[in-house]
Amino acid sequence: MKLAAKLVDTKPFQKIGAHHHKVSFRECDHHKWKSDGYWECFIRHFAFSLYHPTSTCSMGKVVDSQLRVIGVRGLRVADASIMPVIVNANTNAPTIMIAEKAADFIREYWAYQYEVCTKETILIHDNDKKCFYTRLS
Ligand SMILES: Cc1cc2nc3c(=O)[nH]c(=O)nc-3n(C[C@H](O)[C@H](O)[C@H](O)COP(=O)(O)OP(=O)(O)OC[C@H]3O[C@@H](n4cnc5c(N)ncnc54)[C@H](O)[C@@H]3O)c2cc1C
Repeated sequence: MKLAAKLVDTKPFQKIGAHHHKVSFRECDHHKWKSDGYWECFIRHFAFSLYHPTSTCSMGKVVDSQLRVIGVRGLRVADASIMPVIVNANTNAPTIMIAEKAADFIREYWAYQYEVCTKETILIHDNDKKCFYTRLS
């Protein structure tokens, strides 16, 4: 907040007529305008996450680099919660990317599981002389 306030006082901003708008907030009006107490009060009353909460299952702590829950078999998490730290922009596009990566991980995992060639399988992919098969039922 202080940095933003300082920027307004710089020459380039002053040249274009920038100035602070003092809006009256009942909760903080007892503090001196722009004092430490004022900024603390302002932040406590008006800061919010802008609908972008993330990182409750952060990678490295709760899930590994393939989104598998550490210490739990057969469970992955694929949503905004795995971001180790919140991104510097909106969260929807990175969340879609996380979902795409999860689909790749799962596909890759099962492709290897069904790599065995048997009569009950259909050939779906031939790569590097390896057979990738899927089961009929
Ligand atoms: C008002 C608002 C505006 C936003 N605007 C933007 C924007 O403009 N641009 C942007 O990039 N991001 C925006 N976001 C953020 C973006 O929407 C989220 O980051 C993103 O949707 C997160 O995806 P997610 O899969 O982690 O969670 P969610 O999208 O919340 O998906 C969770 C899903 O789980 C389901 N669910 C919950 N509990 C259960 C249960 N027990 N069983 C089964 N299903 C369950 C829910 O119904 C939901 O479908 C906005 C968010 C909000 C709230």
